[in-house]
Amino acid sequence: MGREVINSIRCGYCKRVFEIAKEDLEWEHLKDIGECDDDNSLHDYVINQEIQCPHCGKMNKILMKARGKSETNLEPVEIISMERGAYEI
Ligand SMILES: [Zn+2]
Repeated sequence: MGREVINSIRCGYCKRVFEIAKEDLEWEHLKDIGECDDDNSLHDYVINQEIQCPHCGKMNKILMKARGKSETNLEPVEIISMERGAYEI
């Protein structure tokens, strides 16, 4: 089974890009943040966690955004880096 990559982010330290897959996420940290603005049958979910850059080994804070009908029936939307350095090239 291959990795289910959601998207790539840029490391806030070495500035190299790496992929984040569903398997990298800490699903026990999933939080329900309420109904979606554009569809109240769905909820928005987030996971706040740290993930290790495979290039330099530094821990990067990330935010995963997901949406779905329940915690067990959702799809990741995107992963963004919470490291300021990831946006300064
Ligand atoms: Zn790095």
